[in-house]
Amino acid sequence: MEKYQNFVDGAFVDADSAILVDVVNPATCAVIAQVPESSAEDVCFAVRAAKDAFPAWSRLSHSQRAVYLRRIATKIRERVTMLAEVISREQGKVLPLATHEVNLAANYLDYVAEWALRIEGEIVSSEVPGEMILLQRKPIGVVGAILPWNFPFFLIARKVAPAILTGNTVVVKSSEETPINAALFARILAEVELPRGVVNIISGRGGTTGSALSSHRDVGLISFTGSVSTGMSIMAAAAHNLTRVNLELGGKAPAIVMNDADLDVAVKAIHESRIANTGQLCNCPERIYVQRGVLDAFNDRIAKVMAGTTYGDPFGKTEVMMGPLINEAALRKIDGLVSEAKAGGAEALVGGRICRSQPGYHYEPTVLINCNSEMDIMRREIFGPVLPIQAVDDLDEAISLANASDYGLTSSIFTRDLASAMHAARELQFGETFINRNNFEAIQGFHAGRKKSGIGGTDGKHGLYAYTETHIVYMQA
Ligand code: NAD
Repeated sequence: MEKYQNFVDGAFVDADSAILVDVVNPATCAVIAQVPESSAEDVCFAVRAAKDAFPAWSRLSHSQRAVYLRRIATKIRERVTMLAEVISREQGKVLPLATHEVNLAANYLDYVAEWALRIEGEIVSSEVPGEMILLQRKPIGVVGAILPWNFPFFLIARKVAPAILTGNTVVVKSSEETPINAALFARILAEVELPRGVVNIISGRGGTTGSALSSHRDVGLISFTGSVSTGMSIMAAAAHNLTRVNLELGGKAPAIVMNDADLDVAVKAIHESRIANTGQLCNCPERIYVQRGVLDAFNDRIAKVMAGTTYGDPFGKTEVMMGPLINEAALRKIDGLVSEAKAGGAEALVGGRICRSQPGYHYEPTVLINCNSEMDIMRREIFGPVLPIQAVDDLDEAISLANASDYGLTSSIFTRDLASAMHAARELQFGETFINRNNFEAIQGFHAGRKKSGIGGTDGKHGLYAYTETHIVYMQA
């Protein structure tokens, strides 16, 4: 059994705690590795290393720090296949998507490195003659980065790159479901000779390692991606020290299909977005509102493509379009939501059941029609390959239903009418809206949730500045 260690202060070390966490391949249910369950002492050790590394690291120029980001990107590209295979095994992603994830992580590091000469402060005018008022952007200190399992390798880059470019040091806690790729990222850090303590990577469960990190008094910012309920716990823990939080949480993305939509585009985009990573993406369409004029045609076409979605153990099988869910709990949650919807009058045009005919946590690609907004399946995050569909009379009804949600991350609309698209873009209460395309955000955009989908955001200039704080200097000679 392969065992991994923590990476703290530039060295691979055993955790103080002797407890180990099993890593399971969700396609086979086999235990494939073990990682340490880091204790509060292990967290303190890592935070201390990051704190000690901060003064020297923060004094380097952005360009000097960017050199390391580029080196890490290069090392990632030298082993894309190996990393993608690891991600596919521990998370269940199909290999092309895992490969995309690894490349995206490298691209993200390079993209953030390009910001080195673009970070700007401000000169503010003063009412005092000759006085200069300078607003600088400075690093915050130690960043605690807590990762989910669904895009685990990319999320390391998404958090570490902006944090260290801007001069912070970091303690990363990997997800207990997918810690191996993070341990391999640590090996790359060792190879590029990143100064010790600048990035530390530890493993463990949320209740122990994660809560110790989010309540640590020397952490200046918790950058978290995960569920709403964990985000709330983290915010409560961080409140004791008034630690800043940046929370990227769950979603319940509506997709609106209007009578004048190009159905080829709508069906392809909704299908692709929903089966990607087996529906386990924060921004993939989770509830579809279809205008009655195209309801039958849309249902018919989406049912056909969902029925044609091949699934199973993705490893080494190029014909498999969709892997397993992450674990048995996810399988049961989704099955419960589907069963409740069916009991309430929804009809499964395709799928609707757990697949037990092969090993692993597989759920049938599912299309549910006749859904209504009282059903949990239209209100709670599904995080699986299930498309619930509700009929609407017009755009205003669709927008009103879309907005009647605790979530506010992603939304989309399919229409050929410019006025409808503009109206939706104005009225939808979401951090992002995709018009006539699939739901994948760009690294130069700004991925941010409203309402319970989060606080703050990530990517682009605004995401980079989330890792800085201001220092204003009033200067008189
Ligand atoms: P999760 O909240 O269960 O776990 C995320 C991380 O938090 C894990 O590392 C876990 O160990 C840790 N954790 C759990 N309890 C904790 C606690 N009390 N204190 C500190 N840390 C704790 O989420 P998940 O199941 O890994 O990920 C799926 C969720 O993430 C979905 O809701 C999805 O929508 C969301 N997500 C959001 C985005 C986004 O950008 N908004 C991106 C990816 C995933």
